[in-house]
Amino acid sequence: VETVMDERPDACPACRGTVLIRSGRACGRQRWRCKSCGRQFTRTEPRGKPAATKQQAVALYCAGLSMNAIGKQAGVSAQSVMRWLRRHAQERCPKPEPSGSTAVVEIDELWHFVEKSRASSGSGRRSSAAPAG
Ligand SMILES: [Zn+2]
Repeated sequence: VETVMDERPDACPACRGTVLIRSGRACGRQRWRCKSCGRQFTRTEPRGKPAATKQQAVALYCAGLSMNAIGKQAGVSAQSVMRWLRRHAQERCPKPEPSGSTAVVEIDELWHFVEKSRASSGSGRRSSAAPAG
């Protein structure tokens, strides 16, 4: 079984449009088409941190590291790490592919995290990071 690491690009490299549609594969990579300008591409310019860093952050989170620890290691704020995790969960969750059930456990944990972070507004321990919103 091949481990597919198709990271959805953040935005179209040409127009920065964020509505991207799967458009088959090219050179073993997922190819994307921008709905705004119609351009097809297989990768975007790294905006912010590279996809590998985000994937590692997700893996570290699943391994039990705190978002602060992950953020320090990646050189970003804990909020950025939280956004990566949330995005990761949103991308993987809606369409569970019938390839196996092992990944579902990770997703489930991530969703717990997402819901927890949504629910915690005000109560709980304070962190040095400013609360969002
Ligand atoms: Zn575009």
